[in-house]
Amino acid sequence: MNKYWSETIKGIAPYVPGEQPRAGRLVKLNTNENPYPPSPEVLNAMKAAVTDKLRLYPDPNCSRLRETASRHYGIPAEQIFAGNGSDEILAFCFKAFFDPGDMILFPDITYNFYEVYAKLFGVSYRTVPLTESFDVPVEGFFTYNDGVILANPNAPTGKAIPLENIEALVKRNRQAVVIVDEAYIDFGGESSIGLIPKYDNLLVIRTFSKSRSLAGLRIGLAMGHSSLIEALIRVRDCINCFTVDWIAQAGAIASLEDTETFTRNIQSVIATRSRITSLLRQAGFQVVDSSTNFLLISHPKVEAGTLNDALRRQNIFVRLFPRPRIDNYLRVTIGTDEEMDILFEALLNLVHGTQLKISRIEPNSDPSLNK
Ligand SMILES: *Cc1c(COP(=O)(O)O)cnc(C)c1O
Repeated sequence: MNKYWSETIKGIAPYVPGEQPRAGRLVKLNTNENPYPPSPEVLNAMKAAVTDKLRLYPDPNCSRLRETASRHYGIPAEQIFAGNGSDEILAFCFKAFFDPGDMILFPDITYNFYEVYAKLFGVSYRTVPLTESFDVPVEGFFTYNDGVILANPNAPTGKAIPLENIEALVKRNRQAVVIVDEAYIDFGGESSIGLIPKYDNLLVIRTFSKSRSLAGLRIGLAMGHSSLIEALIRVRDCINCFTVDWIAQAGAIASLEDTETFTRNIQSVIATRSRITSLLRQAGFQVVDSSTNFLLISHPKVEAGTLNDALRRQNIFVRLFPRPRIDNYLRVTIGTDEEMDILFEALLNLVHGTQLKISRIEPNSDPSLNK
């Protein structure tokens, strides 16, 4: 804290990203990165972009990237915005569509950045509680609001929202913009992109960080009615016209053009997800149905915090959210099969180890612990 800080910055708790530990051999399952490398075509295109042309500012409108995305998603290029990661686009949305004092809605358990942006931009918000099973109750969003923001599939629950619920929500909220953050949609769930021609209040956000193995490149897209895109361009051009550099534009274009690597990587993640979900359930873990590249898990006997600390000591990094309703869960990114086997064995040892320890100290206190 410093006397020169603004009141907003004094009062805000910024988003805390998962750690990027430096240690050598570790199993990193804490930030939903893709375990597989990006397409070799992406790397080639980026190397080819390292030329004297870097003397010049990049194309502020990312025209070639947007034209490629237009062919890929079947949406006109004027309805696509490209940005430096989807987090930046989400931040622009808060400035583009909401005013200080407006009341927006988002689920009580969702991507924490929505709350951070609301506070940063002075936008009021109300949270809509997820159901007991962590589903998004669509009726909760039928009350008056100045905007809605949702992640589909939701994070960190991993649960997808049915497309008809998204449509109902967009239809019932024509007075405001409904932002659907599809960071994980390539791993499961139904995209809302098909609804864009019908609804001028729908904005769909995508990222290249998860399904395209390009978290380090910083590329995100927004798709929606051209007037929504125009508002995003206005915000961007009030802050920094050149958010996406030449090298990133080249890499992003190549990523969209290589569907083969993309499809193969997605299928591997999904296969590993089903395998590890069954194993964990057989071992007594509660696993929320996931349409993403991560699992939200808990164990009925051993606290998530205990598991998290013990895994960390073995250089296995997962994510714990110290927040109501999910503080006894671990969020585990789907890594390679080898990484998931290491995690599974470690978890198995921990839950059995803890049970054995308890039964040694107090043999008859609670017989259920010995099961
Ligand atoms: C990871 C994630 C993002 C951020 O993506 P970037 O493009 O890397 O900024 C946005 N929304 C959700 C729900 C995410 O999990």
